[in-house]
Amino acid sequence: MASTAVTAKAATKAATAKSPAEVYREGLALGELRYQRCQWCSTRFCSVSLLCATCGGPDFVWERSSGRGRIHALPQAVGPDDWQERTAVVELDEGFRVRARLAPTPAHRIWRGAPVRLEVAETGDGSLRPVFRPVAA
Ligand SMILES: [Zn+2]
Repeated sequence: MASTAVTAKAATKAATAKSPAEVYREGLALGELRYQRCQWCSTRFCSVSLLCATCGGPDFVWERSSGRGRIHALPQAVGPDDWQERTAVVELDEGFRVRARLAPTPAHRIWRGAPVRLEVAETGDGSLRPVFRPVAA
């Protein structure tokens, strides 16, 4: 029993020693969207932050998003051929918003309030990034 607790504690320590960017990227590699929650005011961040933008607090815990949300806003002036570059502000079920690309999707599936699911895509340079795919309501 005691050794299990020690192991868990060591694992926690190792995790906190990583930089926020590393923790975030590890999540993407597992198909997860990880975010930081301020321990002082509970503000949630999807970007990697060292200080809370709301209260300035330096203490965060990492949480894992369900990857489910809805399109909150769409950029203006997107032509029919621009779908590959389409980005949206997605409001996640956890209650915070993130700007991210949408997966290639027919235009009629994209509207304000459309439900979306997280996917992880590889960019041209081999890094990973979150994208959101509109799904049937
Ligand atoms: Zn805060």
